[in-house]
Amino acid sequence: MRAQVLLFPTITAYGRLYCAPRRLHRYNSSSSPFLNLSLSRFSGGLFFHMESGTSSSGKKAMVENLKRYGVISSKRVAQVMEALDRGLFVPVGSSAYVDTPVPIGYNATISAPHMHATCLQLLEDKLQPGMRALDVGSGTGYLTGCFALMVGAEGRVVGVDHIPELVDMSIKNIEKSVAASLFKKGSLSLHVGDGRKGWQEFAPYDAIHVGAAASEIPQPLLDQLKPGGRMVIPLGTYFQELKVIDKNKDGSIKVHTETSVRYVPLTSRDEQLGGF
Ligand code: SAH
Repeated sequence: MRAQVLLFPTITAYGRLYCAPRRLHRYNSSSSPFLNLSLSRFSGGLFFHMESGTSSSGKKAMVENLKRYGVISSKRVAQVMEALDRGLFVPVGSSAYVDTPVPIGYNATISAPHMHATCLQLLEDKLQPGMRALDVGSGTGYLTGCFALMVGAEGRVVGVDHIPELVDMSIKNIEKSVAASLFKKGSLSLHVGDGRKGWQEFAPYDAIHVGAAASEIPQPLLDQLKPGGRMVIPLGTYFQELKVIDKNKDGSIKVHTETSVRYVPLTSRDEQLGGF
C-alpha cells in the first residue's frame, strides 16, 4: 500500500478535484451538502492520496498531518487515532486516510479525520480511564471505538445509531479492530435507537458526543450528562456550529462555540432515508 504525499492544497473528494483554501472550501453540489467537517479547521495544505485498504504508514501520515496543522496537540488523541485504523471503518474502495468525510450509505458519512480529532481533543478530559461516554449517531463506530480505547476496560462506552444496518456494520468494523476485546468484554456496546433520547441504561455520562446536527439540544441528552461532564454537539440546520456544553457540579450549564461545521442532521430514520 503506497501513500503519496502532495504538497499542494488539493484533495480528491467524490471523484473530483477541489482546491481547499485554508479557511473555506467548496463542495461538490451533486453530492450531499452535509459532510461532517469543520469549515474553519479543515487541515488544508498537505494531503495524501491512499489507495483503498488499510495501511500503517497511511494512518501514521494522517495523524502526523493533523498534528502539523495544529488539529491534534494531545499525545493520547494521537496515540488512539494511530491505534484504531480508519481503513477498517470506511467502505471498501474509498480513501481511508485523506482528510475528508466519506459517504457510508443511508445518507450518512464517516466524519473527516480532523473532525474526529477535534471532538476527541474537546472530550479528552472526560475520556479518562474508567469514565463513561455516549456516542450519538455512531455510524461506522470509528469514534465510538476511539472513546473505548481511551476509557479502557474499566470504562463504559455506548454508541447509538438509528439505522440498524449501520449498527451491524459498526459492530463488524469494531470486531476487526484493536477495540475488539473491549467490545467482547462489554465495556463497549453499539445499539439501534433514536439517539435524541440518549441511552438511559448507562447514564449519567462523563462525555456525550453527537455526530449529527440537532436544531436544539435534546433534553434527554442534557439529563444524561453527569455534573462535571461535557457534551459536544453540532447545532443548527444549514449554518451549524459545534457547541461545547459543560454541566457544572451544581447542574447549571455553560455553552461555548468551538467552530463552524457541516454535519448530517440529527433526525428521524424516515427523514434520513428519504433524503431529508
Ligand atoms: N460519527 C459517525 C457517523 C456520523 S454521520 C462516524 O463518523 O462514523 C451521522 C450519523 O448519525 C449517521 O450514522 C446517522 O444514521 C445518525 N443519526 C442521525 N439521526 C439520528 C438519530 N435520531 N438517532 C440516532 N442516530 C442518528
